[in-house]
Amino acid sequence: MRNDIRLSKWQITSKADLNDDFIESVFFSGNGRMGARGYPSLEHGAPPYKTGLFVAGVFANLKSNITDFVNLPTPFYFSVKANGESPQSLPTKTEYSLDMHTGMQTFSYQLKFSCGSLDIKEERFFSLKHPDLAAERIKIVPSGDMNLEIFSGIKTDCCNFPINDDQTKENNETVNLISILNDTFSKTTQNNELLKHEIKTNGTDIKITETIIVKPFNAKIVDNSIKDNASGFIMASNAKAHEPIVIEKNAQIVTSRDVFRKSEQDTIEKSFEAILEESQDEWQKRWDDADIEIKGNSEIDAALRYIIFELIANDSANDPTVSIGARGLTHTRYKGCYFWDTDLFMMPFYLYTCPTAAKSLMEYRAKILPKAKEHAKKMNGEGARYPWMCSFDGSEQCESWDIGASEVHITADVAFAMNKYITAADDRDFYVNKAAEVYIETARFWVSRYSPEEGTGKVNLLFCKGPDEYCGITQNNLYTNFLVKENLLLAIEAARFLKANYPKKYQSLKLSEEETEDFARLENAIKIPKDEKTGHFKQDDTFEMLEPVNLKDIKDGDSASYHSICFDRVQRYRVIKQADVILLMTRFKDRFTDKERMAAWHDFEPVCLHDSTLSFATHALFAAENGINDAAMSYFYKSLFLDLRNIMGNTGTEGLHTACLGEIWQAVVFGFAGLCLDNDKIEFAPHLPDEIDEIDFCFYYHKVKYKAAVTKNGCNLKVIN
Ligand code: BGC
Repeated sequence: MRNDIRLSKWQITSKADLNDDFIESVFFSGNGRMGARGYPSLEHGAPPYKTGLFVAGVFANLKSNITDFVNLPTPFYFSVKANGESPQSLPTKTEYSLDMHTGMQTFSYQLKFSCGSLDIKEERFFSLKHPDLAAERIKIVPSGDMNLEIFSGIKTDCCNFPINDDQTKENNETVNLISILNDTFSKTTQNNELLKHEIKTNGTDIKITETIIVKPFNAKIVDNSIKDNASGFIMASNAKAHEPIVIEKNAQIVTSRDVFRKSEQDTIEKSFEAILEESQDEWQKRWDDADIEIKGNSEIDAALRYIIFELIANDSANDPTVSIGARGLTHTRYKGCYFWDTDLFMMPFYLYTCPTAAKSLMEYRAKILPKAKEHAKKMNGEGARYPWMCSFDGSEQCESWDIGASEVHITADVAFAMNKYITAADDRDFYVNKAAEVYIETARFWVSRYSPEEGTGKVNLLFCKGPDEYCGITQNNLYTNFLVKENLLLAIEAARFLKANYPKKYQSLKLSEEETEDFARLENAIKIPKDEKTGHFKQDDTFEMLEPVNLKDIKDGDSASYHSICFDRVQRYRVIKQADVILLMTRFKDRFTDKERMAAWHDFEPVCLHDSTLSFATHALFAAENGINDAAMSYFYKSLFLDLRNIMGNTGTEGLHTACLGEIWQAVVFGFAGLCLDNDKIEFAPHLPDEIDEIDFCFYYHKVKYKAAVTKNGCNLKVIN
């Protein structure tokens, strides 16, 4: 647990020392398409896998068919000598800040030399206007007269430190995932010095060009330099006491897989202020749609703004060739892969604050349908099966034998998310041209995945895991079976719709009445595990066979129990890893009675270990929706500060937990504010805790923008033009 991040309305700050993984994760900033952890540009001895740049969709081969998210060379790198001497020690008086209006990362510190000291302030941001652009300004103020030699360039020796899917297994080897092709220095027509660093990813052959333009003020470029670890410009200054030296640097990063128009040369050469202004205008637009104001509690208000900021900063909103990794652009944990985290936990935030961004995420799923079909075939199934851990190209990346093979709910999660998107965004076109096929192909997979039960007309989902990955290998997970039934109903509806309205498409998908009936038969035959005597829903068929255990005996505090107990043991205890039945009931609240929901809370909340960062916020949402006020607040605080206070102790070693960020938004909007959009109506059932007086937020529904002001007594809803 950490308590050293200070929060204000639009800013977080810290005075932590350098080389602090936790701080570097929390101060991540980006424009969704690319971003960097919160490390300063100053050379400070960090290993080359710790400082780098992440670009959405840039993966390289780690081994055959397995990719890693590439830690790219960073254009944010500089060092300084005073009178020929390097700094005497690491910087002192360090201060970090992150401004949520602009995404600006600021690092201030002092460097000491025998001839005096330098006060340095670094500012950098990724342009929200131009996905390929980032800019930096470094201001150096000397304590006395001295000769400064400054190097500013690209740190080219970045490498990866692969992390095993099973985080209990440690790695100690770094790997190089890129090859350097070229370094070219030139002068632009505007007489600026330019360096182009061209590289290529191993195996996936993505070509990346990083271009930097360096503009010194009160110093001049005296040489170009190419060394093993960095390429760039050497500058000199006869610095006078208290007279600032300023170095502006613009960086453009383009890749051979980009889908947007790259910035023109004029744009790349603009001043730091001009690029900032354009980016800030873009942030303002996003904030106008996405900000939530929490009245009556400035701490929650500020923390929630940080959550929203990071959701925007980690989503490449206009690129349907990528999704959002389970750690966004903040870390290589899980090899940068995409999970159901996006579809179930994050997508609603984008859907209701920036529908085009949600569309892009859904288009990604539609685009990788051919890969999902390949995957189904590989797993001896029919139709389309979405991979559990997905690389940019839609290939399965899960290397643990059980989870990837048995956690099949992801396929139904994709259909669920698409339907949410289509319903809320009214996107008929997406339905006809993309989603209908996804529903049908995934339904075909389910037909091949269930096993008929002799003599009953029923079917069983064998060899499965639900969201609770501690269930061993089970059958008939309630969450999965419920979502599969929904998936099948969507497919039946789509088949009938295509037959009536798009007969050519119906034929091209080789649909028939018989097959539609197969879907309906399967839907009818899938079991919903329930104890008929008590009326309680069961998580799966084997949960009650597990050995009861006192949670305190296997878990101490909030960090995951798998650090102290092995998987073989934990999978035989009657514990759950994360919200499972509880999660289902938040997504389909009205399909369960109050009594059924409360029974599930009493059955499953006490045995939940919350070993996944996806768990606290769902419990907060469920508790808020069901008026379990104390639990709602305590789970809400744990999720709201999960990263900001390192609640589970893994923010530094893993990066930010993007599913948790998305689910916090849902806990506030659907839980506390009680927004309900089922049945095509906008309704509110507020459950504001004592700590909050009012929640003000905007949302889009059916292409109309609304502004809601929710208090304990109800909601004032306005249409915004
Ligand atoms: C959770 C999964 C989740 C994955 C990535 C695992 O620990 O159990 O539900 O999708 O992390 O966040």
